[in-house]
Amino acid sequence: MSSWSDAEVTALRAQFPQLARLIHGKPLVYFDNANTAQTPERVVAAMDRYYRDFNANVARAVHTLGSEATEHYEAARDVIAGFLNAQRREEIVFTSGTTAAINLVAYSFLAPKLQPGDEILVSQMEHHANIVPWQLIAERAGAKVVPVPINQAGELLLPELAALINPRTRLIGITHVSNALGTINPVAEIVALAKTAGVPVLVDGSQAVPHLAVDVQALDADFYVFTGHKLFGPTGTGVLYAKTAHLEAMPPFFGGGEMIRTVSFSGTTFADPPHRFEAGTPNIAGFIGLAEAVRFVQELGIDRIAARESMLCELALVRFQDIPGFRLIGQAKHRAPVFSFVIDGVHAHDVATLLDFEGVAVRSGHHCAHPLMQFYGVPATARASLAFYNTEAEITQFVAAVKKVRERLL
Ligand code: PLP
Repeated sequence: MSSWSDAEVTALRAQFPQLARLIHGKPLVYFDNANTAQTPERVVAAMDRYYRDFNANVARAVHTLGSEATEHYEAARDVIAGFLNAQRREEIVFTSGTTAAINLVAYSFLAPKLQPGDEILVSQMEHHANIVPWQLIAERAGAKVVPVPINQAGELLLPELAALINPRTRLIGITHVSNALGTINPVAEIVALAKTAGVPVLVDGSQAVPHLAVDVQALDADFYVFTGHKLFGPTGTGVLYAKTAHLEAMPPFFGGGEMIRTVSFSGTTFADPPHRFEAGTPNIAGFIGLAEAVRFVQELGIDRIAARESMLCELALVRFQDIPGFRLIGQAKHRAPVFSFVIDGVHAHDVATLLDFEGVAVRSGHHCAHPLMQFYGVPATARASLAFYNTEAEITQFVAAVKKVRERLL
C-alpha cells in the first residue's frame, strides 16, 4: 500500500490548523498523539453544525430539532459499528471514554459474578484504566488481579499467560497497543487462547484504532473499547463494543433518564442495549464529531495510514541512534510509532520542558502505567508518539532538539 506524496501530506496537514502553530517561535512538532491527537477542521465543523442548526436533546422530543439530533446521534452509532465491523449497531455503547467503558464492564458484567479467590488477568503494560477498575471490584469480592509478565523488549509472554489461565480466571484485560511502549500485542492469539478456557477478554483499543484496522468479528473479543480523543475526535467520547449476548445479560450501571422502559415505585424496567447503558443526556455533539473523525480516517484509509506510520516508525528508530545517551524503553518488533525514552542522567520532565522551548510537544511522566515503570526501574520516561500527519522533517527537528536539550542539561 503506497503512502501519500509530500504535497498530499501538506494538504492533509492543512486540515489540522493546530499543526501550523509556532511554539516559542519554532514550528510545532506535535509528538503527543498517544495522549490526545489533533482534531481536523471537519470534526470541529460537524460539532459546530449541531450547536448552530439542530441543538436539542436526543430520544425525547418529537419536534424537528429533537428528531434531527436523534438521527445524527444514532447515525454516529452506525458509523462506529461499521468502523469496528460490529455485527449489530446495538453492540455499540457510547461512553465518556475508555475509562468509563472499562468501568462499565467491570461493574455491570464482572462484579456480579465475582467470587472470593477469583482472578482477573491483566498485562504488566496496561494503562491504569485497565488495572484499577478490576482492582476495585476484586477487592470487594475477595478476588485478585494477577499481572501477566512481559520481557525486556516490552512484549507479552504468551506461554506465561497460557500458564496463568486456570479455573478461577474470570476475565483477561489486555491492551491492543501499549500507550507507553508502542508494542502491538497479539490480541487475536490471546482471544483464541482464552476461548479454549472459556474466559472472556476485554481488549483496550485506545492506542490501536488510530493506527490499525480493527474487525471485532474477526477478533472475536468479548469487549473492545476505545476513546475518541486519540482518534482525532473530541474529548469526552468513548466506545464500548460488546457481544450482544453479554449486553443483554448485563444489568445497568448508571440509572436515570433514557435507560428505562417504565419506572414506578413498585419496580422499574430497563431499555434494551445499548440505551440501557446510556443514562442521562449524552455528549451529543461529541459523538457527532467522533463519527466525523471516523469518516475522515475511513476516507484516508487505515491501510494507507498504517503504511505511512510504518515508514515514519522505521525512520525514527534509525534517527534516534544519532542521539547520544538516548535509551529507548521497549523494543518490541511489532510496534506502533510510540516511543518511550530516557536520556541517561536527565529527568524526563526536564527533557519535555526544554523540548517545548524547541517547539516539540512530548509527554513525560509515568504514562498512567506505574507497574510498567516499576518493571523497567525508571520513575518516568519521555514519550514521542506520532500520527500519520507527522513528517520526516519533524523527526529531524525532534532529533536536533533532543541533542540540544541533552547538551544543556548535562
Ligand atoms: N487505555 C489506554 C491504552 C490509554 O492510552 C488511555 C489514555 O491515555 C486510556 C486507556 C484512558 O483513556 P481515557 O482517559 O480517554 O478514558
